[in-house]
Amino acid sequence: MLLKAFATSSEMARRTSPLATASEERDLRAFRASSVERPALNPNCASERSKQKRRELLASVVTSVLTYGIPVWADALNIQEARRKIAPVYRLSALRVASAFRTVSDDVVCVIAGMLPIRVLAEERKALYRRKGTTTLSPEELKTKERRNSIRRWQASWDTSAKGKWTHRLIPQVDVWLNRSHGEVNYYLTQMISGHGCFRAYLYRYKHDVSPECPSCPGVNEDAEHVFFTCPRFNMTRKDLEDALAQKIQPETLIKAMLSSEAAWLAISAFATEVLQELRRMERKRAEIRQLERR
Ligand SMILES: [Zn+2]
Repeated sequence: MLLKAFATSSEMARRTSPLATASEERDLRAFRASSVERPALNPNCASERSKQKRRELLASVVTSVLTYGIPVWADALNIQEARRKIAPVYRLSALRVASAFRTVSDDVVCVIAGMLPIRVLAEERKALYRRKGTTTLSPEELKTKERRNSIRRWQASWDTSAKGKWTHRLIPQVDVWLNRSHGEVNYYLTQMISGHGCFRAYLYRYKHDVSPECPSCPGVNEDAEHVFFTCPRFNMTRKDLEDALAQKIQPETLIKAMLSSEAAWLAISAFATEVLQELRRMERKRAEIRQLERR
């Protein structure tokens, strides 16, 4: 079974997640052709919720397959070959749950999707297996205790991660994000939180635009922080949001506002959608002009 799981994982990884440059290229091509799966405008509508649930179910099935027999292979995760086979499959399911671009790092996508990093999950399963029968705790108490340990380990690695500085600014506390009582991420919110999306700085970085600059703010890079928090192009949309929230939005307080109520979450989600759809329209126009110029 374990070998079969490995083989299946390896096959899935080969077919669906070649990683690095090839997958980044494919993502950007899909993005340009508007073929990336997009949620309905209202992130709270039934189809959006059911999509999120389906993605979460897929992730939990993948996790079950991958973690079968984990006490045996937890140590093997230190071995490069095992990591090479398992990590891409787990990563792919996290990308699906978060509706994230494939260029988003493992550390970031796990936080956004709310999925324990595979290494932390492996350690947790191993600890549960080893302690079973040697503790006075009930199975439920043991699970809760080990999950708390896992979150602590995850937080420590998140704080020291070289990747995802932007996301860490927005979500510094993993447990606060995980324990939220409402709110689902979608294609637009994930672009806002990951910084990987229809921003010129991002497109330029992957050689899909000729400049990283904001078209309205000379000398300023058009990244997630700029468009959502300072760019004057979106002053009116931002003001509507701030009026609805009765507070100014800042990177350091955005998630706190989203978690304060479901209405605030939906208002910020709608803001992200509106801004990103506008950026996409502008990006498309620039691409058309570039095409005309080449003729
Ligand atoms: Zn600007």
